[in-house]
Amino acid sequence: MTAHRKLVAGNWKMNGLQAALSEVRAMVEGAASIPGVDLAICPPATLVNAVKAELGSSAIGLGGQDCHAEKSGAYTGDISAEMLADAGAGYVIVGHSERRAGHAETDAVVAAKASAAYRAGLIPIICVGESLEQRDRGETLAVIAAQLAGSVPDQAADRTTVIAYEPIWAIGTGRTPTTAQVAEVHQAMVETLSSRFGGAAKGIRLLYGGSVKPENAHELMHVEGVDGALVGGASLMAADFLRIAAACA
Ligand code: PEP
Repeated sequence: MTAHRKLVAGNWKMNGLQAALSEVRAMVEGAASIPGVDLAICPPATLVNAVKAELGSSAIGLGGQDCHAEKSGAYTGDISAEMLADAGAGYVIVGHSERRAGHAETDAVVAAKASAAYRAGLIPIICVGESLEQRDRGETLAVIAAQLAGSVPDQAADRTTVIAYEPIWAIGTGRTPTTAQVAEVHQAMVETLSSRFGGAAKGIRLLYGGSVKPENAHELMHVEGVDGALVGGASLMAADFLRIAAACA
């Protein structure tokens, strides 16, 4: 299931005012000297248009952080996948643990959002990950398998799909799993997806996310089965984001 090119996607979460566009400019400049790695930035919705303008003809991709499952309608405050595509996005993160926990998103909701992404021509970055309690109880692989079964739509292998393994206890904490723990989960994901989709599963890129920093990126990005990173905090500054990308090259 290893892809030829790694993808490093930055999740800015609820961070970023107009002033942050200078970081995007620096990313565009720096990315030109890091060939062979796909990059994407997922800014808050308020900056999607402005980031698109800054990216210009750069190969850096653009994504939303969430979308509604419906195309349009009476859903105050929500954004559809079609709206993100219209604003220039090519990706959308769905099922981030902060949305699963803070907005009560079930696997079924996440699958509906991923399907909406396909409908709009976006690439979903579908997030899965266990809590520390689940890991301590030895439930990690079962939790990930259940999340994959419930959150990844049937059409995933026929469409371009990215899945991010993000242990909840590693997000924003500075803690990371060992390389052996990452390899174990990624290998299990490969097996789960292969038994469901057969050879077509090979096209699905599997990212690792959770406290990826310039200092640990090389080690984490060279774990067997890891096709890139979903990066939160370290994606806000161009210098850090670019060092992570360079670690993949
Ligand atoms: C994330 O929110 O997807 C994430 C991985 O965050 P951080 O890199 O800050 O742990």
